This record gives sequence, C-alpha cells and structure tokens, in this order.
Amino acid sequence: MMHRRMWILSSFAALAALALFQAATDAQPGTVKQIVPGVWFREGEIDTLGHCNNAIIEMKDYLIVVDANFPSGARLAMEAAKKVSNKPVKYVFDTHHHGDHLYGNPVWTQAGATTLAYKGVTEELKRYEPKRWQAEAKQRKDVAELKLDAPEPPKQTFDKSPFILKDDTREVRFYFFGWAHTRGDGFVYLPKEKVLCSGDATVNGPYNYTADADIANWPKVIAAAQKLDVAARPRPAIPAQ
Ligand SMILES: [Zn+2]
Repeated sequence: MMHRRMWILSSFAALAALALFQAATDAQPGTVKQIVPGVWFREGEIDTLGHCNNAIIEMKDYLIVVDANFPSGARLAMEAAKKVSNKPVKYVFDTHHHGDHLYGNPVWTQAGATTLAYKGVTEELKRYEPKRWQAEAKQRKDVAELKLDAPEPPKQTFDKSPFILKDDTREVRFYFFGWAHTRGDGFVYLPKEKVLCSGDATVNGPYNYTADADIANWPKVIAAAQKLDVAARPRPAIPAQ
C-alpha cells in the first residue's frame, strides 16, 4: 500500500548493495524530472495525497507510464505525460495490485490506454478485492467518484517473464522475479539506459508494507533484480520522519 519510492537505493542492510537507479535525490512531490533522454520520473505526493511515483517512458510512437496511481494521481501523471511529450499513452504498467498503484486504471483506460501487468496482479485482486476498494471509497473522494464496485483489473497480462516491448528507439522489459512485496510484483527495466523501476519491492526508507508479502522469498527477488545491469546513483538522504 503506501510506500514511496520507485527507484531506490534501499536503506535495508540486506538491500544496500542494490544498484537501482535513484531518481528522487533532489526531486520534490509533484515534480517531474528527466532521468535519461525520453524517460521521466514523477515523484508522487505520498504524504499529502497518497500518490505513488510514476515513470514515463517515451517510445517511438507512444508512451508507457509505470503505475496507474490512485485516480487523482493518474490524472496528474497524465498531465505530466502531456507536458513532456505529445505522443499518446499506450500502456500503463501496474507494478502490483495496491490501490496507490492500480486504482487509477479506469482513468487511463477511459483515455484510451491499455493497462498491463504480470498475471499475479489480477490473481491478487481476486484474493483481496473488492473489499479494499470499497473501504478505500469511503476514505478517498477520487475512488468514490469513479462509482465502481471494484477495481478495474489490468486489461492485458503476461505470464512469461520478461514481457518485452521494443521498437527502433527503445527496449522495455517487464520482469516477474517471484513473490516479494506481493505475489504480482513487476519490475520495469530499460537495458540500454540501465534504468530499473522496482515498484514497492524496494523502498528507500525503514518502512514497507508487508501484509501481502513473502518475507522469506523477498531477498531472492531482490537478488534476481540485482543481476540486472543498473546505473548506480548516489544513495539518497533518508527524509526525517
Ligand atoms: Zn504496495
């Protein structure tokens, strides 16, 4: 549920060697920063609006957005995408089933995008929903305003990892390495640019939501992600709580 970093160098000792691209060193909630040409990071307003972070990846003819966010976060990420590129958002990748990463799915599909995830995301929705959606709708106006009884599952799923989207300009790989934060954790990896989006499987603070997690298997997932060639960046400061 509510965690804050998509690109991280984790503060967990066990994860300390993880060379994931860290984009938010000097980012601020609600701001968009270019990571490499054609790839942007939008830092979510976690503390004020519960929004997750997003990535925007420019392909030759379209954009890929990483994570649907909450509905209000989806609208902000959509605005951000329009500012950085006039190409349409074709795919929105749900890194996992938690509301701050997936409940905005209908916002994107109504705008013409295809929501995409590892099949484990849909299976997690079957386990936990619509109970969580209905509880969230009592707390969050943006969820209630969609007037739906349940979250919208990803429209397209893949089983075999990695699922690859490729064109003349870029290759994007979508990995599933096993059960960590959830049974559906998807990683997005750009091999040429050496950028990795890890969803909530890794965070850069001392807290992570573990109720849907497999603590024993989680380090194996991280170890698998560590095998990817990722550009190391300075470790970010851990914000004071
Ligand atoms: Zn989560």
